[in-house]
Parts: sequence; C-alpha cells; structure tokens
Amino acid sequence: MSFESEIRRDPVCGRWAVVAPERSLRPMTLEGAEPRHRRNGERHPCPFCPGQEYDTPNEVLAHRTPGSQPDGPGWQLRVVPNKFPALRPDVGGDSCAIEGMVLLTTPGFGHAEVVIECPEHLTAPTALTHDQFAAIFRAYRDRLQALSEDPRVAYAAVFKNVGAEAGASLGHTHSQIISLPIVPESIEAELDGSRAFFARTGRCVFCDLAVRELAAGDRVIARSEHFIAVMAYAPRYAYEFWVLPLTHASRYENITNTDTLELAALMNRVLVALDRVRAEPAYNWFLHTAPLRSLELPHYHWHIEVLPRTARPAGLEWGYGCFITAVAPEQAAAELREALPG
Ligand SMILES: [Zn+2]
Ligand SMILES: [Zn+2]
Ligand SMILES: [Zn+2]
Repeated sequence: MSFESEIRRDPVCGRWAVVAPERSLRPMTLEGAEPRHRRNGERHPCPFCPGQEYDTPNEVLAHRTPGSQPDGPGWQLRVVPNKFPALRPDVGGDSCAIEGMVLLTTPGFGHAEVVIECPEHLTAPTALTHDQFAAIFRAYRDRLQALSEDPRVAYAAVFKNVGAEAGASLGHTHSQIISLPIVPESIEAELDGSRAFFARTGRCVFCDLAVRELAAGDRVIARSEHFIAVMAYAPRYAYEFWVLPLTHASRYENITNTDTLELAALMNRVLVALDRVRAEPAYNWFLHTAPLRSLELPHYHWHIEVLPRTARPAGLEWGYGCFITAVAPEQAAAELREALPG
C-alpha cells in the first residue's frame, strides 16, 4: 500500500477528495480528536418501545400482528410523524413564496417521519433479524410511494443516524424520512453530473462504475446477485461505501420485496464487518434516489451511501467541501472483505 497522497474526483458529482494515508501517522494530542465510536449510554426512558405509543404521534404505517390496534402494542415496525419536526405539512400554500432576488425563502413545509424499526430496544441495526432489516427497506419504499401523492413534495430524504456521535438523539434503532418542497443540492449535483456523463457517453455513470469496480475488484467489499457494496472512490470519510443495484434503476420506489431481502442481507454483512474493523463507529446511511414522480431516468441510478464518522471535518472540509481521508479506499475494502461474516 502506497503512502503517497492522491487527489481524486468523485465520478458522479465531481466533488474533490484527498486520499492521504500518511495522515494516519499524525500525532493526535487534542482530546476528542480521535474518530467517534458509538457509546449508546441513555439518560431517559425510550419513547419508541412498545407500551409508549402514546408518546409518539399517530402512526402512518405499521407492520402489525393481525387483530392488534393502531397506536397500541403488537407491532413489528411503525412509522410515525416526528413529535419535534424540523418541517410541518400544514404550513404554507401550494407554492413557494419568493422574496426578492437575493434572499429566497419558502415556508417550512415538509413531512418529518420516523421509522421505528423493531419493538425490541436494540441500538445496533446489525442486531435486527434478517426479516426486520428487510422490513426497513420495504417501509422506505412504501412511504416514498405514499409521499409522492402529495404534489407539494419534490423530494423525500431517507436516512439513518447511528450513534449520538452521528447525530442520533435516541438509541432505539430508527430511520427518518423528511419530505421537502425542493430537490436538495447533493441530489441536484448527482443529477447534473450523471446527466452530463450520459450526454457524453450514452451510459449511466453508476452502471459504468459497477462494471468497472467489479472488473478491478480492489474497492469491492461484497456483492450479491443483484447488488454490489463498493468503497467510494473519492470518499469524504475513510470506509465510506455505497450500495447499488447492478441492474439500472433510478427510482427506489420500484424495488421488489425479494430485492429488499437481498439488499438487507448485503447491507447487514458489510455493516457487521465495519463494526468489527472500526470498533462500532457512529455512522449515517442515506438513500439517494430520483426526485418523486420523475419518470425512470436513463442517467440516474439509486444507491445508498454509508458514511462512518472515522474523522472530524475541519477547515478544508467545511470551508471548501474537500475531504481528506487517511485510509485509502482500496485498503479499507481489503479490511472489510476480511471481516465479512459467513
Ligand atoms: Zn426503545
Ligand atoms: Zn445505472
Ligand atoms: Zn449519492
């Protein structure tokens, strides 16, 4: 493994990253400068456990035992509106208000939902059963489909924070779905980058990436029949990886139940390996999919990005959007492959 640094460009959105393995040798004298691991200490009773349903707004989706009552026990998974939402569905009109040319604003419209992923008080997603893990991916699909019916919604962000160090405020394993009246900047960048690539080559950049990565092999962590888990070429954090379907698809809403099972199995294996190699880091995962109600796009390809908190963003990252990682993606992939279960 070479210690020479490289400046890499993300193949989709064009963001620059610095891969600098020599950085891993630097002294860390400041307390708290080390990577962030999940601590999972809890101070209050859990509002997501069964018996506490009164403490969450009424469920919008639930996987329930037949005969059980909505908003009571007897569920396997619940989706509820966030009790303390960043955005609300009952503000503003149908249109975005624009004030002047310089300051652009729109009411804080949106749906903020929480996917409570299991009735057991588990904090690690890898502790879920295979069926529970797959149910998360079905719930994502079903809520995206439901939210598409609101014409005010342009995009729905689907993400998960694991560990307080990655922004979670409750331990009980859960995801969030936040619908927005706008398409977020990172998605616009990916749409623009992939559209430009398609115009040049006639191909989807993600399909191309999957083919090239499979052929090269050194950044591939694992694959299944229809999915691949691969290290990001130009990562923001060391061990950042992406999971994408091997068959072209821009809209996550169309995923089949069978594929949710396969996706869950692959994600779970790689996350177990990550926990082993990095001693349970805090991380986020997020779904990147085409804007709601778009047609099937030939240039865009849905995927999940997993971002472990293996470093702290500093001046170059915050100020210039240029991330430095101290572990080369090829090295990280080799370590995770070695640690895969089964
Ligand atoms: Zn709980
Ligand atoms: Zn594709
Ligand atoms: Zn993405």
